[in-house]
Amino acid sequence: MAPGLYIHIPFCINKCRYCDFYSITDLALRERFCAALKQEMGLVGALPTPFDTIYMGGGTPSILDSGQISGILEAAFRRFPLATESEITLEANPGTLSLKKCRDYRSMGINRLQIGIQSFQDRYLKFLGRIHSSDDATHAIQYARNAGFRNIGMDLIYGLPGQTRADLLADLRRAVSFEPEHVSCYMLSCEPGTPLDDARKQGEFRMAPEDDVADQYLSVVEFLEANGYEQYEISNFARRHPVDPGYWRSRHNQKYWRSDPWLGLGPSAHSYDLPERRWNHRHLKPYLESVSSGRIPVEGSEMLTPEQQMMEAIFLGLRTTDGISISEFEGRFQRSLMPVIDIALTHPFMKNRVLWDGVRFRLNREGMLVMDLVADFMINHI
Ligand code: SF4
Repeated sequence: MAPGLYIHIPFCINKCRYCDFYSITDLALRERFCAALKQEMGLVGALPTPFDTIYMGGGTPSILDSGQISGILEAAFRRFPLATESEITLEANPGTLSLKKCRDYRSMGINRLQIGIQSFQDRYLKFLGRIHSSDDATHAIQYARNAGFRNIGMDLIYGLPGQTRADLLADLRRAVSFEPEHVSCYMLSCEPGTPLDDARKQGEFRMAPEDDVADQYLSVVEFLEANGYEQYEISNFARRHPVDPGYWRSRHNQKYWRSDPWLGLGPSAHSYDLPERRWNHRHLKPYLESVSSGRIPVEGSEMLTPEQQMMEAIFLGLRTTDGISISEFEGRFQRSLMPVIDIALTHPFMKNRVLWDGVRFRLNREGMLVMDLVADFMINHI
């Protein structure tokens, strides 16, 4: 399996209230960061296998100017072998896009744009602390289409305080009206240490009740499935393709769920090549210091034991609608999953949440809602 390349761009105009990804709002270091990223590519050394995906995420990659993005990509093209017809994705915030930028991205080989819409309703965008409006989101999609993007992904958030089913459906209807090739719908979570979590603790708002959020999740799946999208992971939906069912899935993100190898560059980026997982310095300053003194900016690493790899394969496999292939699992770990599948199929709580066709074990919609519980159950019974 070909590895993927992830590049973390750690800058944002403002910090969204819910965000716990690493990014800073001091943009003065952008040029220095771009230079360091190219140096880091030199430090990691040659890779024997070509990548078939590049994913520029963040942070807000579209905050860089086009020259900076193309400089990073050209350095990556020079440094690493790349398979033909690779998927090259850039994450974009609607508040930072323009038609010119989208045209520039196309001309430098970016063929997939992942746009952080989150909602088409201004009051929710304000609540989340997004820098853009609903109109900006609409314009961003139009810029991308007019520039020739044929593969657009949209991020949406549900489970917002006060959000009704009608609000959610209005967002989904608006999203599919643009016929994006991919939709990611994430449940709002209040991560410790974020401004959103502080505001919640101070009583500024209450999180939506769990049952309501579960109903919203089921509405999302139902709506998107009914409108031509195939759910292939808990939060991810790809437009159905007449010939190849997996055509519009995110090739890059699927590497994470399949435990395929990937190389992460930039502050806070993780890399994975079984059995090793390693991670770069989270903060820009030590990252820059490390690279400028000629050291790979890795802060830590761990070797996953076969037991840990097995647990990870269960957790990641259950996230996807393909589920866990029993023959692949048994070939990889020399352990049979059949005894635990037999227990799950008769267990009063599990049996209505899992699916077994003799080849793959997976979760149905209700099971996806309690994925952690099912995974724990399997790990405890294996
Ligand atoms: S734009 Fe994205 S990375 Fe930046 S603060 Fe908002 S959610 Fe986080």
